[in-house]
Amino acid sequence: MADKKKQFAVIGLGRFGGSVCKELYKMGHQVLAIDLNETKVNEFTAFSTHAVVANSTDEKALQSLGIRNFEYVIVAIGDNIQSSILTTLVLKEMDVNNVWVKAQNIYHHKVLDKIGADRIIHPEQDMGIRIAQHLASEKIVDYIELSDEYSIVELLATKKIDNRSLIDLHVRAKYGCTILAIKRGEEINVSPLPKDMIYQKDILIVIGHKNDLKRFEEEGM
Ligand code: ADP
Repeated sequence: MADKKKQFAVIGLGRFGGSVCKELYKMGHQVLAIDLNETKVNEFTAFSTHAVVANSTDEKALQSLGIRNFEYVIVAIGDNIQSSILTTLVLKEMDVNNVWVKAQNIYHHKVLDKIGADRIIHPEQDMGIRIAQHLASEKIVDYIELSDEYSIVELLATKKIDNRSLIDLHVRAKYGCTILAIKRGEEINVSPLPKDMIYQKDILIVIGHKNDLKRFEEEGM
């Protein structure tokens, strides 16, 4: 496992950056937590490998932290768009490979895109979409948008498909979507075979075109 550990730096320890930092650290990765605010930094000493007070718009400060050696740097500065942009610019000028940045709005997004942010995240919108999908159907447990057309959904198996095998359900032939995995309690079957059974309350992880997924969810189960 040790060689799978990655090095991350999280800049800005608000609600979003703080959650990213804690989760990565919990997963066993090396995480450098950075914030201007000393109280925040102190709070995160227990949830990171190192927590330091620094202003990320200061190139020298980032250099002295050896930020170039981090595989991923997450810029999670919220309201201060100017600091977020400047930090991203400095990181890309320092040749940091993967700079992921939280965007506040579409204008912020456009600028981040122009200055080379490798991935731009809109946590509120993404979460809003997932929650809406969940609210719209009790069968949808989770939802990940892959593109405008394709997504992955987690569907709760209903009574209608209880005690049926995958071959019996013909999901791919009938609906054009693919069951990637079946979760049953703590267990997860990641390469289900045609003969594998589905029981009510299993969670099916299904990939496909949005229209096909919708048809499967509404008509197939
Ligand atoms: P969220 O909406 O995710 O809670 P916030 O705007 O509340 O985000 O938090 C952003 C964090 O980023 C704050 O803790 C703030 O101190 C920190 N921050 C803002 N500017 C800088 C900077 N230049 N360098 C380091 N940290 C910064």
